[in-house]
Amino acid sequence: MCGIVGILGTHEVAPILVDALRRLEYRGYDSAGIATINNGTLDRRRAVGKLVNLSDLLVHNPLAGKSGIGHTRWATHGAPNVSNAHPHCTSGVAVVHNGIIENYKELRAELSAAGVEPQTETDTETVALLAQMFLDAGKTPTQAAFATLDRLEGAFALAFLFDGHDDLMIAARKGSPLAIGHGDGEIYVGSDAFALAPMTDQITYLEEGDSAVLTRSSFEIRDADGRLVNREQRIIQVDAARVDKDGYKHFMAKEIAEQPSVLANALSAYVTEHGIALPDPGIDFTKIDRLTMVACGTAYYACFTAKY
Ligand code: GLU
Repeated sequence: MCGIVGILGTHEVAPILVDALRRLEYRGYDSAGIATINNGTLDRRRAVGKLVNLSDLLVHNPLAGKSGIGHTRWATHGAPNVSNAHPHCTSGVAVVHNGIIENYKELRAELSAAGVEPQTETDTETVALLAQMFLDAGKTPTQAAFATLDRLEGAFALAFLFDGHDDLMIAARKGSPLAIGHGDGEIYVGSDAFALAPMTDQITYLEEGDSAVLTRSSFEIRDADGRLVNREQRIIQVDAARVDKDGYKHFMAKEIAEQPSVLANALSAYVTEHGIALPDPGIDFTKIDRLTMVACGTAYYACFTAKY
């Protein structure tokens, strides 16, 4: 699972976006990119491979602006190359996306029929092209984003930024997590609170199907039915050791070594002075004669433990 970060800020955002993406490196990725709005105009930089390639590119070819979105990609549709890397941009909109747009083939066919030819192999580009089509039809950026979201099937976290609109970001979550961070005259989105930790500890998690309209001074969240909703704003304490390799060579080595403490932390919520008190699952297991667990990879091995 790769990473998204977005900032409507008060400082130059390019280095902050790259730093936030670095905090999402543990998720794995094959390429990375950022887009900013500078003097009202969208521009982007993208690079294949490690984030250092993107930061090197930014040294030679900097990107100014106080609003921006960034992405680390783990390719599902199309090769891991620069053209397929996010953000995907048209003249009017930049989009970063985690997940899969399942109906992208139908959408591509629709776009082709309207004379719009995709330039990349990704499912994500169709999101940007669709939003552009709605912009061209006279919709406002917010209307165009919502009209686009209405057409998407699949699992996604998305962030949109619009040319000429330095103080607007649209975020949406369906299947992939996304959090809003609240700063002082700034607002952020991130795949998780770790990415946003240097900027803020005030976090609102979007719930399944939510979408949000963000400006530096306001945010509005709608649920899957389009109703305005309030989501709890929490203070999140992020342990720095959890977001870096903490001395290990790889994140995987770290994850293996930290299993005892992760298990202890997870179980500690159920340990009382009288022993372990598990919450009632509301299921009478004596009435169940068959249970199927479906998993692959490490989760498959976890199922063996559950079976035992
Ligand atoms: N499906 C998109 C792509 O292949 C997004 C993948 C991701 O979550 O990074 O570009």
